[in-house]
Parts: sequence; C-alpha cells; structure tokens
Amino acid sequence: MSKELNFKQELTAAFGQPISENPTQVMVEAAYRHHGLDWRYLTIEVGPDDLETAVSGAKAMGFQGFNCTIPHKVKVIEYLDGLGESASLMGAVNCVVRKDGKWIGENTDGKGFLASLRELTDPQGKKVVIFGAGGAARAIGVEVALAGATEIMIVNRSAGRGEELTTLLDDKLPVSASFIPWEKTFTIPSGTDVLINATSIGLFPDLEARLDLDLDSLSPDTVVADVIPNPPDTNLVRDARAKGCQVIDGLGMLVNQGVIGIKHWTGVDPDPKVMRAALEEVFG
Ligand code: NDP
Repeated sequence: MSKELNFKQELTAAFGQPISENPTQVMVEAAYRHHGLDWRYLTIEVGPDDLETAVSGAKAMGFQGFNCTIPHKVKVIEYLDGLGESASLMGAVNCVVRKDGKWIGENTDGKGFLASLRELTDPQGKKVVIFGAGGAARAIGVEVALAGATEIMIVNRSAGRGEELTTLLDDKLPVSASFIPWEKTFTIPSGTDVLINATSIGLFPDLEARLDLDLDSLSPDTVVADVIPNPPDTNLVRDARAKGCQVIDGLGMLVNQGVIGIKHWTGVDPDPKVMRAALEEVFG
C-alpha cells in the first residue's frame, strides 16, 4: 500500500469522504494569511517506525510545534518532555508545542469543544450526557469535568469502552460519572443541561443516520452539541433546532482546536470566522 493511500485513508476516516487537502492545513493557513503571519502549516505523513526520529527532526528543523493524529496520539508521549493537565489525564496528545526548547504535549480536541460550548453555556455545575466513548468522547468528558460539570452520563454501544471512560472520569476527576449501555431507544433524563453526540453517527456518507434517542424527551432547555464536522448539519443538529434547543455543530470544535493550536504556537489569537469559512469551502 502506498504512503499516499494511507494518508488519504486517514483523512477519509476522519471526515467521511475522500478529501484531497487536509482541512486542518487549509484552515490554519487561512488564519496565517489573514493575520499576516509568515508561518507555514505542513501536512507530513510519518509511519509508526519513524515517529521518534520525526519528533527529533522537527526540533532540529526549528518547528514551533505540530499536530499529530491516529495512530500517533498515544505513542508520541514517549518522545515529549512534558504534558498539559488534560493530555496527561486522557493519555493522548494531538498538539505539541515548543516551550523553552522542550516539547510539551497538549490535547486541544476537548478544549476546542469546550470553547464552542462556552459560547452558549458554562458547564460549571451542569448535568451532561455524552453519547460515545472513543477518543472524541474521552477528550470532551475530561475537559467538561475539569470545567466543573457535576454529573456526566456516558451512553455507549460497547460496554467495555463505556465503562473504561466512566471509571476514568469518576476516579480521576471531581465529577460523578455513570454509564448506561445503549441497547434501546435512549430517554434523555429530565434536567439534562447539555447533550453531546461524540460518536461517528451522522458522518458522511451516512446522512440519514440518527441517534437512537426519544426526541420527545429532549427539552428545549438542553444545549445540544454534535462533533460531526462533515456534514455539520446532521439530523441531530436539525432535530434539536426544530425542538427549539441551542445547538453547536462539529465545525465549532474543529475551528476552536485550531484556534488554540495557533495561539500556542504563534502567540496570536486568530479570527475563528476566517477559519470556519475556509473549512466550509473544503467541505463544499
Ligand atoms: P472512535 O472510533 O474512537 O469512537 C467512535 C465512537 O462512536 C464509539 O463510542 C463507538 O461506539 C461509537 N459508534 C460508532 N458507530 C456507532 C453506531 N452505529 N451506533 C452506536 N455507536 C456507534 O472515534 P473518535 O471518538 O475519534 O471520533 C468520533 C467522531 O468524532 C468522528 O466522526 C470524528 O469525525 C469526530 N471528531 C470530530 C472532531 C471535531 O473537531 N469536530 C474532533 C475529533 C473527532 P463503540 O465503542 O460501541 O464502538
């Protein structure tokens, strides 16, 4: 299998359709141009056997940092000098920053989500339901708990992953976490403040896919968030809007993790609107 094919498969898995350009690169470079920053964001494929050399090479070549994705998010930690708090709790890094000559690993996925959520509500003291228990759910769960949510309910199809995430949240964070196996139509508990889809249900090309939940139990007072970036207008987003809920789509999380990365690397707070417009163009 050629390297090019591997890379394209990664992009396809993340965004649900073959995409010739890395959307994150397009988004970040749009911000660099807009702010007159003489910086570049490159997409470089690195195989698992070359990861250590690539991390040293990035330092030798004067990189200020890098993002990394599957399959490197856990393994890369061995080659870094330190971790931010949430990356350490999650055991996964997607953004590396050079600070005083040292590589520090951060996880900006959950922080990006949190920034989007805070545009609508403060998670402090809130009851949160999260569908999913994969990487996105873990990043969001840890960050929402660090931000002061009091209760998190994990709803997941496979019990193993669901229980593992619930235990992590319950044991390591100041939140009360519970796990519900997703075996039938889910009724949203009354008093749920925030409901989050962190599964891949709804990702292109499964445009008709719907979360198996009882929409009659969705209150207009619940803030609803979906992580799916492509298409951002999922059935959940549409159903929740029709119910009168305030809604966050998956582009918000993607844009905000980019905003945080750029701030880490360059010190500049980029304009999220420019970045979102660049992404919308990529996804057509
Ligand atoms: P993972 O593969 O780690 O986890 C996938 C999750 O979805 C699991 O909980 C899985 O359940 C669940 N799932 C998948 N299909 C179904 C189904 N048919 N019915 C019920 N549950 C299902 O993926 P990630 O967590 O890394 O990513 C999840 C989504 O988040 C992706 O679509 C990705 O595009 C998006 N994402 C968006 C970001 C953004 O910035 N907007 C950032 C990161 C991710 P089970 O454990 O039972 O298999």
